[in-house]
Amino acid sequence: MQQGAYQTDYHVHTARCGHAGGDMRNYILTAISRGLSEIAFTDHVPLYFLPGEDPDPRLAMTRAEMPGYVDEVRALRQEFAGRIDVLLGLEADYAEGHEAALEEILREHDWDVVLGSVHWVAGDWIDAPASGKRHETEGTARLWREYYRLLAKAAGSGLFDVLTHFDLPKKFGHHMPGEVADAEAAAVEAARRAGVAIEVSSAGLRKGVQEEYPAPRLLRKLVDAGVPIVLSSDAHAPAEVAWGRNEILAAARAAGAREHLSFRKRERRRHPLF
Ligand SMILES: [Zn+2]
Ligand SMILES: [Zn+2]
Repeated sequence: MQQGAYQTDYHVHTARCGHAGGDMRNYILTAISRGLSEIAFTDHVPLYFLPGEDPDPRLAMTRAEMPGYVDEVRALRQEFAGRIDVLLGLEADYAEGHEAALEEILREHDWDVVLGSVHWVAGDWIDAPASGKRHETEGTARLWREYYRLLAKAAGSGLFDVLTHFDLPKKFGHHMPGEVADAEAAAVEAARRAGVAIEVSSAGLRKGVQEEYPAPRLLRKLVDAGVPIVLSSDAHAPAEVAWGRNEILAAARAAGAREHLSFRKRERRRHPLF
């Protein structure tokens, strides 16, 4: 990593979501050791759109855990002030028809950044361990088309600052069929029109697909459309903070990106890409 550059990680989980591990302090210490200026905790929002109080605590923090999450981030922000900026964020699922419920959750706290994710597609998860099989039973093209329809709606909802893992259905290696290109283009256009940012994430490099999100071809389209980027790892363990940083920087540069964003209280700042 280049010295002196403004480095951030805008997608970091905590043990509260039930499928990440490690102490929050260790995520921050890793961020410092890797030269980051900021780390944004963005744990999974409670599953507000599914029936039951907390239908699956292995997928998201529970409603009861949310205040403790916010308090811990704030306490760590104080503790590490002057060494690294610790930001309060959330990875929030977009769920069609449940926008008002999410809006209410977002109003409860003073977020620095809200990530918008489409994980729930056509009545099930698109990225869970068993989701790969859906491509065989339900059809890859159908799932991709529905995913991009929802992502475009998420962009236009105005609920989010950043759209995550733009081409998530590829996670297990099911690449987008060419016939879905129109739906992809519509999602890119929706992001452009909404002025929402996207993440360049190293997480895909750790998954079956072995490719960053978004794919180089798609990232270029987004950058060409003027959609701004943030840098992220989607860390679910302290060692994953800023993981794959050089790879996603190279991908962003190759796509023609010149800057990346940071956020404070949902206001964006621009930084040259180094
Ligand atoms: Zn997660
Ligand atoms: Zn996600």
